[in-house]
Amino acid sequence: MTRKSPKKLSDNPPGKATFNGRSRGDPAPRSKRVVVTGGAGFIGSHLCDLMLMQGHEVICIDSFLTGSRNNVRPLLSHPRFSLVLQDVADPIEIDGPIDRIYNLACPASPVHYQNDPVHTVLTCVLGARQVLQLARAKGARVLQASTSEVYGDPHVHPQPEGYLGNVNPIGPRACYDEGKRCAETLFFDYHRRYGVEIKVARIFNTYGPRMVEHDGRVISNFISQALRGQPITVYGDGSQTRSFCFIDDMLEGLVRLMESGSHITGPLNLGNPHEVPVLEIAELVRRATNSTSRINLRPLPQDDPKRRRPVIDQAQALLNWQPAVPLDRGIAETVNYFRLQVPCAVPARAQADPKVVASAG
Ligand code: UDP
Repeated sequence: MTRKSPKKLSDNPPGKATFNGRSRGDPAPRSKRVVVTGGAGFIGSHLCDLMLMQGHEVICIDSFLTGSRNNVRPLLSHPRFSLVLQDVADPIEIDGPIDRIYNLACPASPVHYQNDPVHTVLTCVLGARQVLQLARAKGARVLQASTSEVYGDPHVHPQPEGYLGNVNPIGPRACYDEGKRCAETLFFDYHRRYGVEIKVARIFNTYGPRMVEHDGRVISNFISQALRGQPITVYGDGSQTRSFCFIDDMLEGLVRLMESGSHITGPLNLGNPHEVPVLEIAELVRRATNSTSRINLRPLPQDDPKRRRPVIDQAQALLNWQPAVPLDRGIAETVNYFRLQVPCAVPARAQADPKVVASAG
């Protein structure tokens, strides 16, 4: 991972995002007390790492439903880190002041969130209420991890924040889509009615190390299948598109949004506007893993959006943010991570890109 050796401003191409000109390891100008719900999950655990590296105190709340102790194990002995094992939908009691709350707690992959749909919708709605009440009580700023799923199977392409979406309220994805939409509603009502300082990020497909192998997501599935020498399962004909944002870029966007002026509430799209068909992902993964796995076409799941790509003009204008990591480099980093997680049927390419080899593990 790039964050093992903190990136300096000069490492970024001109005009690309950095943390307000500071490298990730530099101490923050003022140390904050930060709550991260879902802090043991994929995005959450990277955010905990980053907050600690920036000198903040981190209170991670997670139920380990889909998050993993492994993701935060190295942090457990850190003096500025604490872990609260609880469901975000239950009342949150934390002594002392809180400056920032990132609400990331929710199963996020279709396989996981459809596993217990009632729990998913309640996690979205009751979890939002709990963090908003906490923010109100503590005078904290609170960021909601919303999702591109609020646009459903979109009739407008690419998707700007002003598009109201095309969501099937009774379909298998509704527990997540409608739950997240309702969470946005609660955020804006708490903002208007009680003056809570809110930030709403609509997160598009994000990938990178620490994705869960069996969560059914396309990049983790394809990499795991390719490394194991199994067929790569492409749903439908693979022409449906997604736009994938590497985890490092997403973290930068989230932190920039959180630290933006209080008049900036969002909802703001955060994602990579580079749109690719799923079939092309399969090819990229085959190349990155040196795999000869064949492609196995499977039925397209119900309500699977045909196209998805964010308009990120607002994030560019308001946060001076845009993704910097190209898909092939991000996939290479993710493959390096998965090589350590799954039994590999294919060896790493001897002549792999030296930069990628250097960042392995
Ligand atoms: N997909 C696929 N094979 C897989 C897993 C997913 O073809 O093994 C497809 C899926 O149907 C969807 C896209 O990849 O069109 C992205 O799926 P994912 O579950 O990663 O995210 P989401 O649908 O929530 O964007």
